[in-house]
Amino acid sequence: MNEIQVKIKQKFAGKFKAGYPLIFKEALATPVSGEEGTVLTLRDEAGGWIGRGYYGKQNKGYGWVLTQDEDETVDSHFFQNRFDLAFQKRKGLFENPDTTAFRLFNGEGDGIGGLTIDNYDGYLLLQWYSEGIYSFRDEVVEGLRNVASFKGIYEKKRFKSGGKYIDDDDFVTGERGEFPLLVKENGLSFAVYLNEGAMTGVFLDQRHVRQSIREKYSEGRTVLNTFSYTGAFSVSAADGGASETTSVDLANRSYEKTIEQFAVNGLDYEAHNIVVQDVFDYFNYAEKKELAFDTVILDPPSFARSKKKTFSADKDYKNLLKQAIAVTEKGGVIVASTNAAKVPMKKFKGFIEKAFKETGGRYSILEEHSLPEDFAVHPAFPEGDYLKVLFILKK
Ligand code: SAH
Repeated sequence: MNEIQVKIKQKFAGKFKAGYPLIFKEALATPVSGEEGTVLTLRDEAGGWIGRGYYGKQNKGYGWVLTQDEDETVDSHFFQNRFDLAFQKRKGLFENPDTTAFRLFNGEGDGIGGLTIDNYDGYLLLQWYSEGIYSFRDEVVEGLRNVASFKGIYEKKRFKSGGKYIDDDDFVTGERGEFPLLVKENGLSFAVYLNEGAMTGVFLDQRHVRQSIREKYSEGRTVLNTFSYTGAFSVSAADGGASETTSVDLANRSYEKTIEQFAVNGLDYEAHNIVVQDVFDYFNYAEKKELAFDTVILDPPSFARSKKKTFSADKDYKNLLKQAIAVTEKGGVIVASTNAAKVPMKKFKGFIEKAFKETGGRYSILEEHSLPEDFAVHPAFPEGDYLKVLFILKK
């Protein structure tokens, strides 16, 4: 394996020695050259040891530190060792027959930035976030073989410019799955597809949010689920006893995908509404008709462009909340979620404060969620905890 020496500026050396994992451009005293995947030996400008990492461009990063141990090399043993630790941490989930889909390995949170691994009932889904980490594919697969029994492996290459997904046959090794594959989460079923584009059908990081909606905010309620994708929140609400759910998404595929998620749970989708429409148009319609829901779920992408407008969470979330407030019953609950890096929790709460102030209403926050425990966060890299979800009571 190629290995080169890289110097870290003295003023950032302490940060890395304290465990910071992301190699960022400003910290480099010497430029990184060569191919992605090159192993980097990091030292401070005085020659003091910092760690060993790899070169891989991901967003604004140049790679990740993999070890602070001078004697540890980056080979299949290294990967095997990190996987072993990660799998042990998730023993409880492995032993839980009611939940067969969860994250097995969460990038830097488990010691290897740029790689995540999800378990879908014995099929592993690898997601590669840079060409650099992808160059270790053989070592990673070998490391996995040595610590886990799996039916098959699939992958998503997310390193086209801008971190985009590269469409390909995503099968790697083992047995090919039959899709939809039915996985379980807290006893509910979800139909997933591991070889059909960038997304699988369910976002595993919302497990606790789905559970909370199902247990506490559904019984006898009307539920509006916006940006609903395959309707996973709607299915949770319907199973939790919602009198009616309305799922709104502008993607045509969402209609049949949502029917499928209801059907695999034995729920009557005809008793629920599935609307293929721009959420902003739907809100205008609902306001005009003076509709009011008991639970309103907002889960927009950080950034989206539709025919008429663009939505970006940091600029437009406050207005989205105002529209949601207008169609929520008094005493109802708004579940507001964002994974936008530009919107940390404090700013997110600020949007809620402003939205209620501008609409003249009162509120209180009932629940606050971040990533679930299987989405491990690196203690020196809290920005890896991207998920922010608030349950807001409209008074
Ligand atoms: N809440 C979903 C995940 C949402 S993913 C879940 O729990 O599974 C984001 C979704 O927003 C995508 O399905 C996309 O089609 C949809 N979307 C983006 N912009 C939209 C808009 N303006 N109106 C309606 N849906 C939109």
